[in-house]
Amino acid sequence: MQFPRAARFLDLRESMDAYGIPPRLQGQFTSCIRFHGVTAPGIFISVFMVDYALELLDAQPGERLYAITETYRCVPDPVQVIAGCTFGNHRLQVVPVGKFALTMNRSSGDAVTEGIRVYVDADKLKKFRIINSWYTHSPEFRSQTMIFPLIDEILSAGRDILSFQHVRVKVPPKQSWESARCNNCGEMVPDSMIEDGICRGCGSMSYYQVM
Ligand SMILES: [Zn+2]
Repeated sequence: MQFPRAARFLDLRESMDAYGIPPRLQGQFTSCIRFHGVTAPGIFISVFMVDYALELLDAQPGERLYAITETYRCVPDPVQVIAGCTFGNHRLQVVPVGKFALTMNRSSGDAVTEGIRVYVDADKLKKFRIINSWYTHSPEFRSQTMIFPLIDEILSAGRDILSFQHVRVKVPPKQSWESARCNNCGEMVPDSMIEDGICRGCGSMSYYQVM
């Protein structure tokens, strides 16, 4: 789903100007595509989603926020780049239910807090033929010829394919832990990660064999 490099950014920039995308948002598209590594249509939608969620939250630049995305595809990248909620700082979680959706909220000492959920709205999508055929994985969508028209339609649609909800989300409790040593590999893990005396890496989540 890549197109020639020379054409890529020129046409992209022209489309963004043509649809009145503000420079702030144009910069975010560029940073997120660079971070993502390829010019994926889902990144454009995700940038609009994060920007919308931040505005609805009335978030201030640099504010400490938390995010949950509902897919591993595309959405986590703009959340990390734009909102600073990363996997590494524990402020990004993925609940992989297969939806292009995300919830963002402020930090809270309570067990439950209020947040904003932004999602791709199936009804609104019907007005956008190309996005709809791509999003629904329709055989009508031809990535060879339709990728540019698709990105064009995403840029012109902006927030018009999105809806939002005010939601209450559970705040995960802070758990205390002690260090424990695996009886098999001898490496150390938090005690909650030990199953029948061995670590999950040696047990239920084993993914490699030592050569
Ligand atoms: Zn082990």
